Amino acid sequence: MADRHPFIKQHSLSWVVVVAALTFLSGCTLSAARSASPRHLASNMTPSLNQLPSSNPSEEKVLVAQSNQAYKKVVAKLAQQQKITKLNKPIPAQFQGKTFKNVKINNPIKTVAQEASDKRIGQSAVGKPIALTFDDGPWPNTTGQVLDFLKKNNVKATFFVVGRQVQQYPQITKRIVNEGHAIANHTWSHQYHRYNPAGAASEIDKTAQLIYKLTGVKTNLFRPPGGILNNGLAAYAQQKKYAVVMWSADSLDWRHNSSQALRDRILKEASAGGIVLLHDGGGNRAKTVQALPLIIAELKKRGYKFVTVPELMEMQEKDQEMMARKG
Ligand SMILES: [Zn+2]
Repeated sequence: MADRHPFIKQHSLSWVVVVAALTFLSGCTLSAARSASPRHLASNMTPSLNQLPSSNPSEEKVLVAQSNQAYKKVVAKLAQQQKITKLNKPIPAQFQGKTFKNVKINNPIKTVAQEASDKRIGQSAVGKPIALTFDDGPWPNTTGQVLDFLKKNNVKATFFVVGRQVQQYPQITKRIVNEGHAIANHTWSHQYHRYNPAGAASEIDKTAQLIYKLTGVKTNLFRPPGGILNNGLAAYAQQKKYAVVMWSADSLDWRHNSSQALRDRILKEASAGGIVLLHDGGGNRAKTVQALPLIIAELKKRGYKFVTVPELMEMQEKDQEMMARKG
């Protein structure tokens, strides 16, 4: 994770694209201006401009369309670059190489006066932050259904993906990132046995490389399969400065409980700064998909606001900074 060369390379490459597109744009604008010049003005211009062919409405249309298209491309490229930069922001130092199951937020419910003061110092808005996490995907049907529902309700979550699933379903993987969710590493093959360092490296690095290749995101979040912390995987991840992300609320959705039972369990274990474990893959997750509307509606009612795991870490950091200022 310390090797940032590919990102820097990609960054400079994208600027080359932007500069090239802008050059093309200015070229288009100049040609459009030239072809639109009235003839009495053209006589005052340089001989080379006088020799240009007369204006032609259909040519102008083509030029305007080309210039609009190039402009849109530049804007889209910049937006994508901005998103990737945001997603690749390094995690706060206090989480690098550490294992955690929730974050500590000292004062999540604020009075109006506190909120106004927080806004002035850049603290994020009021509400009890909680992070929904989905493991073991991408999975046909279920991941798409989860994404559809999250999009409809403007909820952002974190997806701990399995490398071999990513290889099989690259389009779903790209969709996760394109829709603004955080993506994280859940090994290549999702096994529980003991790993030597080379085996652990292969499980984690291969997955990270594929995620990067498909989405441009260098994830620094890892969750070990089964939450097993002592089989060599978490140790390797910590050594590579990943944050090892566990959970504070377990839906136990893999036990095939009813959707009501899933909801009740999460509501019982939900807390400000908490991390909720759900599954969008690894088996039949119809119950999880069914439970999702119940979970989200009830948590919203209780004053929770949904954030990604990277946002949750940033909140703890800001909260600590605020406490330090107060203290
Ligand atoms: Zn898993």
